[in-house]
Amino acid sequence: MNIIFATNNENKVAEIKAVVPPHINIISLKDAGIDIDIPEPHDTLQANAQEKAATIYKLTGSGCFSEDTGLEVEALDGAPGVHSARYAGEDKAFDKNIDKLLTNLEGAQNRSAQFRTVICLVQDDGKEHYFEGICKGTIINKRRGSEGFGYDPVFVPEDATQTFAEMSMEEKARYSHRRKALDGLVTFLNSLPLK
Ligand code: IMP
Repeated sequence: MNIIFATNNENKVAEIKAVVPPHINIISLKDAGIDIDIPEPHDTLQANAQEKAATIYKLTGSGCFSEDTGLEVEALDGAPGVHSARYAGEDKAFDKNIDKLLTNLEGAQNRSAQFRTVICLVQDDGKEHYFEGICKGTIINKRRGSEGFGYDPVFVPEDATQTFAEMSMEEKARYSHRRKALDGLVTFLNSLPLK
């Protein structure tokens, strides 16, 4: 089964390829020869995921999925949430985003946070399906580790002692929001009749 993953983020492509079963062939936008910056203009993860998948479906007419992820911090009333990528500005700089997060959490007792991922699948016939994954954890006050991307150096998942950035991709997948959403997608794809 071939399916396009509508993202330009190669870290996400690698994470997802590492956990899907071998009969599901994930094609990245790069592999598909598609070079566009897909807009994320909406106020919810679900609407952004839908927009990205629908954009690629319109272009290709092929089954595809996309995901949108946000870091939701309790003491910041759920911010940066859907605005996680551009928290500190339009350049989407991971370092600046972490700096802003740590500054906004200075002195905060409650450092609980969660990553939430929403996947939107658009099937060959245009039908849409949604899958969600959540990883709860804590924001620490100093970066640790050099793996991964985004907020990984300051996020420690519940029941773990390392940050996501101190884990290998396989270890991160044990806890990851994206993997949990993906499990829902893979279960659904596996339930489809073979063509
Ligand atoms: P996106 O809009 O889904 O690409 O993600 C929004 C932002 O959330 C990204 O730019 C990253 O900063 C952050 N993010 C998404 N997934 C992860 C993750 O697994 N670890 C750390 N940060 C992430």
